[in-house]
Amino acid sequence: MKKGSEKKKVKRSSACAALCGILLAAVLAGTGCSQAQTTPADQNRAGETAASGKTAAGIAAETASTGKTAGETAAQTAATGETASETAAIGETAGEEFSKPGEEKEYKGLIVIDPGHQQYGNSDQEPVGPGASQTKAKVSSGTSGVASGVPEYQLTLEISLKLRDELEERDYKVIMCRDTNEIDISNSERADIANDAEADAFVRIHANGCGDPGRSGAMTICQTPGNAYNGHLYEKSRALADCILDAYVLATGINYEYVWETDSMSGINWSQVPVTIVEMGYMTNSEEDLNMQDSQMQEKMVDGIADGIDAYMVQYGQENETEENETEEDKAEENEALENKAEENKAEENEELENETEENKAEENEALENETEENEAVENEKEENKSEEKDAVENGSEENKLEEKEAGESTYEK
Ligand SMILES: [Zn+2]
Repeated sequence: MKKGSEKKKVKRSSACAALCGILLAAVLAGTGCSQAQTTPADQNRAGETAASGKTAAGIAAETASTGKTAGETAAQTAATGETASETAAIGETAGEEFSKPGEEKEYKGLIVIDPGHQQYGNSDQEPVGPGASQTKAKVSSGTSGVASGVPEYQLTLEISLKLRDELEERDYKVIMCRDTNEIDISNSERADIANDAEADAFVRIHANGCGDPGRSGAMTICQTPGNAYNGHLYEKSRALADCILDAYVLATGINYEYVWETDSMSGINWSQVPVTIVEMGYMTNSEEDLNMQDSQMQEKMVDGIADGIDAYMVQYGQENETEENETEEDKAEENEALENKAEENKAEENEELENETEENKAEENEALENETEENEAVENEKEENKSEEKDAVENGSEENKLEEKEAGESTYEK
């Protein structure tokens, strides 16, 4: 069944950035949730931006408590007002799937969380995207804390489990790609979990590492608009990446690095739902490493990510798809169906024509062969005949006769 086809629609007012802008305006004075285009080249500017990042982080830290309030407001807004009836409709559907009979639960959406990495990396190769010839390790081993000694896979699972609890408390249905470190699951397999579930958002939790111990801050990652596998999901993925990074930085006071758009991540390329990777901070920075091990900080990290998901869902959740989009989708589907039909018809016609042509050719060839054989017979018979010219004339008349005869036979054969 088509998503949301039976639901009333709410007009989408603006890009997610605008909503985040409203939530964060008081703190970032208009600079929040910026959709500034970023490229991998920005990585090189990390050092330059570190200074301003710290300033922003400083401000954010002071007002982290208001950030939480903003997040809660967003959550409340999502469940009230005009969207209430639509939410109820989804709840019923979701309830059938996920709740025991008799107890109906309303879900705000379905989130798949992928705690990055696992206890042992798997260097076996898999394609970087569907049908790709280029391959990458199924899952790399990740980084580890320079001061804490904690491996990335352990931190990502710890935060992810807390995030699951937080999201469930906020009435989301949550599916975990893994809830243990002793597992072997590739990046494409993780994406498939989100795809199979038709998740509203696929959130991949990671921590960063690099050779520069001074580098710190959080980034989120999504595909480029030109991604060969899921470029059509760019707008939603970028919004998800923006919303989460903005809310995360606000809640934690961790530096804002940037949103990195790249098509080099298998787990993103394989995703057929809106997706982002959250790089929560640098485990190669001793201060940030220890900061991310602090339980109070972890609460903020989890709240920040959840706030970002809330902000995204208010704008892009299934219940908020616009009537216009629905119509456009329907039209697109209809057009596709029509085009497919037309192509099928054409293919059938072409096949028929080809078959016909081949049949004709076969008949013609047969006729020619017969003609040649008969001509030879005639020639043999007339060996004694010494006049070449006469032969030629006679052959000509025989040929004509034969042709007429063959033509007649061909008509009967059909
Ligand atoms: Zn990682």
